[in-house]
Amino acid sequence: MPEVPRFLEPLAGFGVTFGTMFKPAHTEQYPEEKVPVAPRYHGRHQLNRYADGLEKCIGCELCAWACPADAIFVEGADNTAEERYSPGERYGRNYQINYLRCIGCGLCVEACPTRALTMTNDYEMADDNRTDLIYTKEDLLAPLRTGMVPAPHDLYPGADQGDYYRGEITGSAPEQGEPYDGEAS
Ligand code: SF4
Ligand code: SF4
Repeated sequence: MPEVPRFLEPLAGFGVTFGTMFKPAHTEQYPEEKVPVAPRYHGRHQLNRYADGLEKCIGCELCAWACPADAIFVEGADNTAEERYSPGERYGRNYQINYLRCIGCGLCVEACPTRALTMTNDYEMADDNRTDLIYTKEDLLAPLRTGMVPAPHDLYPGADQGDYYRGEITGSAPEQGEPYDGEAS
């Protein structure tokens, strides 16, 4: 590339400015216009359910151990015959993510053995106080879909936890309770 004479260097600089002035602007008018994020964007987490409404989280704490920012707190508890929240022995009784610490790396999702934990495209989590940025299980649990029975309830009749993990449960049965009949809770 030929060398620009020194006295022309300022003009070369302005050339970049003028060239840019006539290019279309890429300013996003947020929050009036919300541009969709990439499909695999790392937004707010979600604790997922099986198709009959039981929770996928088994309270194993692997997500908390994997988190480099120490942003997750999990307290597991035993399922009982009278009160079952997940197909296995244990469920996540207390689950919290501190979004003041979370760096959105997704390592917690990779660590989860049941695909209970995933990340949504929701990025609107700003707040004006620290307490509300610690999301609890109630904030993170996936909404009920039509046909799901809210936990706690029994396993699908005749099924065991392996059937759940293999994806063989595709809905709830009448024996499990009253199904939710709305779109999302
Ligand atoms: S996304 Fe990363 S920083 Fe955030 S909770 Fe998961 S492991 Fe921790
Ligand atoms: S979200 Fe997954 S990794 Fe975390 S406690 Fe629940 S089952 Fe274990």
